Order: sequence, then structure tokens, then C-alpha cells
Amino acid sequence: MKTYKKKMVPINCDEAAKRFSDFIDNYLKGSAKDELVEHIAGCRHCFDRVEFEQMLKSKVASLGKVKPVEKNIAEQQIQLILSKI
Ligand SMILES: [Zn+2]
Repeated sequence: MKTYKKKMVPINCDEAAKRFSDFIDNYLKGSAKDELVEHIAGCRHCFDRVEFEQMLKSKVASLGKVKPVEKNIAEQQIQLILSKI
């Protein structure tokens, strides 16, 4: 019987940045979340960015203008327009 100790893979700032949005929305699960938390704990730069994005998101939410779903629709429309060019 083999026992594996769960190994945390260090991620860099670029990789961390890709996960900020999901992390703030609480979509990030399992090792993806653990890796990001681990990175933020040791990286002041990313910690500040997550804090900033979180603040920004709550501000946007409080305005009630931009919702994630609407943004996705806008992105889809942009993709559609671009595909026709
Ligand atoms: Zn970082």
C-alpha cells in the first residue's frame, strides 16, 4: 500500500491571477484553491490584487449595473461580431 502525501504545487503570479476571479466568486475548489491561497499567503503583490479585485467587485455589485451573466452575454456578442468579420 502506498501513501501519498498531498503535494502542493507552487504557482506563479500569472497562474494565480487567472484564478482570482473564480476565487472571489467562490467557484475555486480543491487543490486549485489551496494552491492559490498558498501563493497569496506568501505573495504580497497577489494578496493586494485579490483584495483590490474583491473591493472592486463589491462596488460593482452594489451599483447593480454589471452582473456576471450580462458580461458573458456581452462577450458572446462581441465574439459573434468578430466571427462575422
Ligand atoms: Zn504572486
